[in-house]
Amino acid sequence: MLVVMKSQATPEQIQAVCDHIELLGFRPHPLPGAQRTAIGITGNKGEVDRGNLESLPGVAEVIRVSKAYKLASRDVKAEDTVIRFAGTDAAIGGRDLAVVAGPCSIESREQAFAIAEQVAAAGAQFFRGGAYKPRTSPYAFQGLGLDALKIMAEIRDRFGLRIITEALDNETLELVAEWADVIQIGARNMQNFSLLKKAGKLRKPVLVKRGLSATLEEFLMAAEYVMSEGNYEVILCERGVRTFSDHARNTLDLSIIPALKRVSHLPVLVDPSHGTGRRDSVLPMARAAVAAGADGLLVEVHDHPEAALSDGPQSIYPEQFRSMMNEIEQIAPIVERSLPRGIHVGVAAG
Ligand code: PEP
Ligand code: MN
Repeated sequence: MLVVMKSQATPEQIQAVCDHIELLGFRPHPLPGAQRTAIGITGNKGEVDRGNLESLPGVAEVIRVSKAYKLASRDVKAEDTVIRFAGTDAAIGGRDLAVVAGPCSIESREQAFAIAEQVAAAGAQFFRGGAYKPRTSPYAFQGLGLDALKIMAEIRDRFGLRIITEALDNETLELVAEWADVIQIGARNMQNFSLLKKAGKLRKPVLVKRGLSATLEEFLMAAEYVMSEGNYEVILCERGVRTFSDHARNTLDLSIIPALKRVSHLPVLVDPSHGTGRRDSVLPMARAAVAAGADGLLVEVHDHPEAALSDGPQSIYPEQFRSMMNEIEQIAPIVERSLPRGIHVGVAAG
């Protein structure tokens, strides 16, 4: 259920409706929009008796949300969600494209700084790097853990880049939340419901990667898990799914971009690195993702990919990253977007 407030409803009236919903034993989720505030109701097993709610001051109407995902749905919030980063001009969602770049794994301070310097110079606003790695083999490099988080925090101080890194489980979630600006939940964890719920209790943006065989609805339900706990800053990331195709590591499903945009207000990033697994496919698919309406890109960049401890074959060189930025900057205006080059720190969020 969804309570739509009148455009002139006062904060007190919105609060009174939330209090009433709590009194009924449900959870209110006030979601302010440009025109009016909508209040999602979760926790109800069956129908909520709308009679009472409709008569409260400031309420325009009470409607049923028929989709399985509620808070992630455009029915609840018509405008696109824009996630901002305090004290910077960076944003995910909205007109400006967000670009996240960096190595698959943080391997050393030197490696991370060398790559960060180059992606910052090319105009990225976000730096990625795995501290805790979900590896198919238990014998493969598992990440530097806390040391990597500390290196990335230094990178934020030095270059201004905001930091995105993966939380692998409930223990690492707390550490990642403490050190990073965005918490990544990886493809393999997209249906780790206890992890999603725990991330929902935090007040840090969460980037959810699409599971290896997840449908659109399953993907949005993962976001819903986070939102149902009160954390509405969720970013979706398409990273390819498993198919019969054998020319690429995964099949990057760009057709999910317009499909997601149609039904959800959440920002959608595309990861052409994991989505293809091949360095030579990253740039063409990055162009296509922007053209198809993605809100930004997440790409793996490495200065010595042949020596990388993970995902070297899909990591592009810093100079290729520069070319990618130049090309998507040109594509952006065709789809009414723009590409900010570099992050400004110490400004009021725009
Ligand atoms: C990653 O971003 O390095 C990663 C492991 O991604 P995914 O969960 O999409 O495989
Ligand atoms: Mn990787």
